[in-house]
Amino acid sequence: MNYIPTIGLEIHAELKTKSKMFCDSSNDPLEQHPNVNVCPVCMGHPGTLPVANKEAIKLVHKVGLALGCEIAEYSKFDRKNYFYPDLPKGYQISQYDLPFCRGGFLNINGRDIRITRVHLEEDTARLLHPQGADYSLVDFNRAGVPLMELVTEPDITSGEEARRFAQELQLLLRYLGASDADMEKGQMRVEANVSVRPEGQEQLGTKVEVKNLNSFRSVERAIAFEVQRQSAVLKLGSRVVQETRGWDDGKGETFSQREKEEAHDYRYFPEPDLPPFRFAKEEIEALRSELPELPWQRRERLVREYGLGGKEAEIFVREKDIGEYFEKVVSELGSNLAPERLQKLTKLSVNYILSDLLGLLQGASVQGEDFLITPENFAELVLLIEKGEISSAIAKQVLKEMFGKGGDPSQIIEEKGLAQVSDTAAIQKIAEDIIRKNPKAVEDYKKGKASALQFLVGQVMAKTKGTTNPETARIALENLLKTARN
Ligand code: ADP
Ligand code: MG
Repeated sequence: MNYIPTIGLEIHAELKTKSKMFCDSSNDPLEQHPNVNVCPVCMGHPGTLPVANKEAIKLVHKVGLALGCEIAEYSKFDRKNYFYPDLPKGYQISQYDLPFCRGGFLNINGRDIRITRVHLEEDTARLLHPQGADYSLVDFNRAGVPLMELVTEPDITSGEEARRFAQELQLLLRYLGASDADMEKGQMRVEANVSVRPEGQEQLGTKVEVKNLNSFRSVERAIAFEVQRQSAVLKLGSRVVQETRGWDDGKGETFSQREKEEAHDYRYFPEPDLPPFRFAKEEIEALRSELPELPWQRRERLVREYGLGGKEAEIFVREKDIGEYFEKVVSELGSNLAPERLQKLTKLSVNYILSDLLGLLQGASVQGEDFLITPENFAELVLLIEKGEISSAIAKQVLKEMFGKGGDPSQIIEEKGLAQVSDTAAIQKIAEDIIRKNPKAVEDYKKGKASALQFLVGQVMAKTKGTTNPETARIALENLLKTARN
């Protein structure tokens, strides 16, 4: 018997606003000192009143617009009542029946995953349980931080697809400047609802909710584990228990946390301290026109405009700064270039950015203004490579120099004496020397082994520290070998 997995996600993301959701305390996720970004409002003192953060609502609207959601013209906040030490007011201001956004979808590898809703609420405080201590600590810096919640329809069919969904959403949130959405920092939190049903059965199986997924990898692994576990339960003729399970990353297993008591009664009611909202159509349309190019639009454009491969485009979409840099380099290559030449130069640029430049950047963790290679200089380097004025070995050396100190590649080549040796007589002499010293390779070449010539070219390059044009070296060697043969 085959079992079909069904997954729906609930994803929370802390929004990147200056202040908290209902007060002017700082929203600073990097604050290391506990309980400094607090005030009577987010501490739930009696007599205080909340004021909604306009910027947070704007960000949720942007997310909704990007996902093709319907933006509610009329909306409100509600109180979700429960008691917990991380909730100073004894209730969370959230949204119940009138979320800011409904519907919409996110396309993952050609499949539309439908979105149920996107709403806004406030985050709770952070509880810390020191090892071995018989007490817990509370840090209220996070209490009242704007928190977006997105719920999907049960349209996802595997752990991998769920992971991709979460990654694509993260990318969108970053493009919109809505959230840094770093899972390791808890800025984005994913809960997965997982069920399986026997093939042929229409009705969805009993779902289990998996919490504490702190990375994309654990999203994928935890779901895969649950699908296996639930299928095995059904195979044995048992029933899946509706419950909340945690994820043990070390063991690679989910474990039961609590069985679903009769649906929680949160006694939701409209938040009496915040008037409901009416949004004008023009207001929403104005926001729509502010949307930047979205990740999937950029992915498609990079492939279409530059003929990039899927993997290359993906890196440029995820590493947005690098992608933008690449486009600037291409625009500096020159105007009115013949299409084939532009294509060749673009390809060279991609290769040098993705392999060499990215390597240098990863090694040095350079950011912003510390990055010294202007797109213009990078484009010039690419042109020098294309014209054969420097070999790839020299290009790497020049690039390293540019990375460290900035500057114009031609000037660096000049200063460092890295210019290609074009003196054929000199190359001829070196080639003769290399042939004399490598009888085995010469023998192999005569037997028809093409790699032997490549080896000899390499020797000439090494001898001249890469300053020889490899093509010139190859021709010199071939001519010498031909004469030697007769
Ligand atoms: P609850 O009322 O228990 O919170 P919801 O209907 O609000 O359940 O759904 C919560 C999440 O669970 C949504 O993402 C939804 O897509 C998903 N979901 C609902 N039913 C199933 C199911 N049978 N299997 C997997 N996911 C499901
Ligand atoms: Mg729910």
